[in-house]
Amino acid sequence: MTKMNLNNLENRVRKTIAKYRLLKKNDKVIVAISGGKDSTLIAFLLKKFGYRISALHINLHLGPYTKRCMDAVKKFCSENRVPLHIYDIRKNFGCSICYLRAGIQSRLKVKNCAICGVIKKWILNRRARELKADKIVTGHNLDDESQTALMNLFKGNVLLGITTGPVSGIIQDKKFVPRIKPLFFIPEEEIKQYARKMNLPVVYEKCPCALDSYRIKTREFVNLLGNKDKLRIVKNNLKIIERLREKIKNDKVSKIAYCKICEEPARGEICKRCSLLKNFS
Ligand code: SF4
Ligand code: ZN
Repeated sequence: MTKMNLNNLENRVRKTIAKYRLLKKNDKVIVAISGGKDSTLIAFLLKKFGYRISALHINLHLGPYTKRCMDAVKKFCSENRVPLHIYDIRKNFGCSICYLRAGIQSRLKVKNCAICGVIKKWILNRRARELKADKIVTGHNLDDESQTALMNLFKGNVLLGITTGPVSGIIQDKKFVPRIKPLFFIPEEEIKQYARKMNLPVVYEKCPCALDSYRIKTREFVNLLGNKDKLRIVKNNLKIIERLREKIKNDKVSKIAYCKICEEPARGEICKRCSLLKNFS
């Protein structure tokens, strides 16, 4: 990757931030950092652009993989002088994510990432709010987003993606910290090249629990497409989502309540995390 390409990627990220008004200069920003290339790169760029960032890493206790991720995160944060917060799932939930998942999956047919994703979102929102953050930043990229858009379409349920976008969520509530995705339009391959070129401390291997065969198949399909096609999928999906949001803005689905168990924002009486945990034994 040449210096010109590096600048080009940076400019496109800046453009997304400006176009979708993702950040204000004084926002207190929490980057959800996993140790992978995407979240590390966006932390690196936001720091470079001069935003007030700190990082939040969730220790899921996934064996040696977690250790490698944690080492990478610590190295990045100390090299770049980014304050780091670590949330230990074992300390807070009493067990590792694998144990939690196994308990839930013994009663419910839910995929690994669906469980982990719900739990992580819940943790991020609560922890970011405790840290008085204005925004949570995640590292989702163009490939992730085009896969998700197609998966929702294949399932015949575009509504599943109603919260998607560079600003994710349709919720506006004092207990909800907005989540933003500045890498929304950046292809995975470019992120990899940038991270390698800048020698960022990153774990490139995939999470050992990412076993969702449907996503793997969709990824294989998306990998056959060029970046222009991925961009078309994501942009057209955004247009559909915007229209859907407009249509349902007065429906029950877009109303926010507080979970009766944990008091976090929820769309029903009980939030997704608590309904999963009800099946944990
Ligand atoms: Fe969790 Fe899936 Fe991400 Fe692994 S890949 S950390 S299981 S959401
Ligand atoms: Zn709850």
